[in-house]
Amino acid sequence: MKVLLHACCGPCSLEPTRLFLEEGVDFAVDYTNPNIHPKEEYERRKEALIEYSLKPQGLDLIEGAYDVDAWEQQAGIYGTADRKARCRACYRLRFEQVAQHALEGGFDTICTTLTISPYQYTDIILEELERAAKTYGLKAEARDFSWCYDEATRRSIENGMYRQNYCGCRFSIAEAAAEREQRKRDIKLRKRLRRFERELADRCLEHKLRNQAEEHVSGSLALEITLADFKKLLGTDIADVHEALELIKNNRRLFEAEFSNVAFKAGEQPDAFVACIPQKDFAALCEAAPDSQFLADLIAFLQNNPHATCDEVVSFFAKRSRKYEASAGSEGLSIAFKNPDIDHHRFRFTFGPAQTTFIRTL
Ligand code: SF4
Repeated sequence: MKVLLHACCGPCSLEPTRLFLEEGVDFAVDYTNPNIHPKEEYERRKEALIEYSLKPQGLDLIEGAYDVDAWEQQAGIYGTADRKARCRACYRLRFEQVAQHALEGGFDTICTTLTISPYQYTDIILEELERAAKTYGLKAEARDFSWCYDEATRRSIENGMYRQNYCGCRFSIAEAAAEREQRKRDIKLRKRLRRFERELADRCLEHKLRNQAEEHVSGSLALEITLADFKKLLGTDIADVHEALELIKNNRRLFEAEFSNVAFKAGEQPDAFVACIPQKDFAALCEAAPDSQFLADLIAFLQNNPHATCDEVVSFFAKRSRKYEASAGSEGLSIAFKNPDIDHHRFRFTFGPAQTTFIRTL
C-alpha cells in the first residue's frame, strides 16, 4: 500500500502522520486546499504543516493548485444556504484532485486528515473519499481520526503551532464566529440553569425539613415555581409560563443527571409552573442542595439543644452558613435566604419543647 495522505493543516496532520510512521505505512502528504481563504491564511497553514509535521519527520509535500475559481464554481455556489452540500462539494473537489495526484505519483491509496476535526462532517468525508478513490481506480484508507483530536490539540498547543479558528472558506469565517458566540451563550445559559437546579434542590430540601425530615415523598412532589423567580434566576426576560417551559424543554441536555426525570408543566396559576419530582429523584435532589449538610447540622443542633435560645441559634447560623442568615424576633426565629435573586425564602422556627417545627412563611 502506498498512500497519498491529504492534509488540511498542521495541527490536524500531527497525529495521522505520526501513526502512519509508527505503522510503517509508505506515504506522502498532499496539501490541496483551494477552499482556504484568504491566500495568506492558506500559506500560513501550509507553513505550519511543513514546519511541525513534515520537516521533523522527513516527509515530502505535494501541493495542489490554489484554484479559487474552481472552488467557487463547485462549492462556493451553495453559499451559506446549504452548508452540508457546500462541504460535500468542497471535499469532493479536493479529494478528486488528490486522487489525480495519487495516480500521477504512483500511489494506490488515498486518505485524509480531515476526519480528526469534530467540526467536520465525518460521514460525508469518508463517503467522498471512497467515491474519489473509486472514480480513479484507487483504494480509500477510510480512517476516522477523531479519537486523536485531543492529543493533536495538546501537541499543537505545546509546540506553539498556528491554530486556525475557522474551517477554511470565506463562509466559514462568519459561521465559526457565530458558533463561538452560540457556545458562549450556551455556557452562560448552563450557568443560569445550574442556579435553577440549585434552587429546585434547595426547595426539595426545604420540603423535607418542613415535613419533619421525612425520608420520602409519596408519588411525585409538585413544586411550584413562579415566573418571577424563574426570570430572576435566569437573569433573562421571559414572557409567560409557556416560554419558560419551552426554554427548559429546549435545554434539557444542559441539566444534570438528577433532573433527567423531573417533569415541568403548567400549573393552575397563570404566573407559575410546576416541577414534578418523582420519588426516586427526591433524595438525590435533597443531597444536591447546596446547604444540605448545614441544614442537617442545624436539625441535629436543635434536637440536641432543645432549650436553645433564639440568640444561640442565630449565633450558630452566623458561624456556619454562607447562604442563610438568621435573626431573632418576637415571633421566633427568622431565617432568610441570602441569594438576592430569590426573595421568597423566609423561614420561621418556632421554639418550644419539641424545637423542630420548621415553618416556611411566604
Ligand atoms: S466549511 Fe470547510 S469543508 Fe465546508 S466548504 Fe468551507 S472550507 Fe470546505
